[in-house]
Amino acid sequence: MPQARKRFGQHWLRSETALAQIVNAATLTATDRVLEIGPGTGILTKQLLAQSQAVVAVEIDRDLCMLLHKQLDNVPNFLLLEGDFLEMDIAAKLADFPDFQHLNKVVANIPYNITGPILEKLLGTISSPSPSPFENIVLLLQKEVAERLCARSGTKAFGALSVRVQYLATCEWICDVPAKAFQPPPQVDSAVVRLQPRSIEPAASQPRQLDQLVRLGFATRRKMLRNNLQSVVDRDQLSDLLISLNLNPQVRAEDLSVTDWIALSNALAG
Ligand code: SAH
Repeated sequence: MPQARKRFGQHWLRSETALAQIVNAATLTATDRVLEIGPGTGILTKQLLAQSQAVVAVEIDRDLCMLLHKQLDNVPNFLLLEGDFLEMDIAAKLADFPDFQHLNKVVANIPYNITGPILEKLLGTISSPSPSPFENIVLLLQKEVAERLCARSGTKAFGALSVRVQYLATCEWICDVPAKAFQPPPQVDSAVVRLQPRSIEPAASQPRQLDQLVRLGFATRRKMLRNNLQSVVDRDQLSDLLISLNLNPQVRAEDLSVTDWIALSNALAG
């Protein structure tokens, strides 16, 4: 197995159990076209290739790309794109490959150091959701982040990331993956989640404002929402508004569900 490079967040998955759980979570069919971020040595890639119509894998590490080319170039439903996923215009790269366009699912054991930007590239943001959302996105990520993605309001794990991601997708916990499932083992435990992008109803009438409210609201977690938001809305006015939304005027940001956040934002938008 090639030496893992720290700067690319490389940890090779070696647990057959975890691999099977990831692949099963994607509920692949013979017509699925899958995007994989960071195929690494191709262990997950091979399973995806066996269960889907096409796999497009984006890998930043040149040496791994050479290995993957050697191993998989004769597999007709495989396409490797070399480069940084975050920088890459994937649609443009696929312009000449009609059999690999319209990717509908994502399955990946991602580099943990760029989880936030990866989620944003896959889902978009509250104010600009992805125009062509995936059917589902199965990711192996840091357990702590997985907990934030799947958290319910009123719990400690529920933060700005929870609101941002849950606004754009439903998040399901699939399973825990212990550090020893990898070589080398990462410092942290991991988990698999499945995200299903959807258009939330009712949506925010002013998504930029919702984005701003969430940012400010969670800026100081221990403070009451009316204090965190006082630069944008008068404290007494916010208290009245919270009461009208059946919320306690003393709530903190983490107490509001995604629906509450939307209601608050829409009420402020008038
Ligand atoms: N899927 C493999 C490897 C996971 S490790 C396995 O499960 O064993 C993360 C992988 O992401 C590595 O192959 C690393 O080189 C790659 N990677 C890191 N940053 C990347 C980026 N910005 N764009 C594309 N791939 C990246």
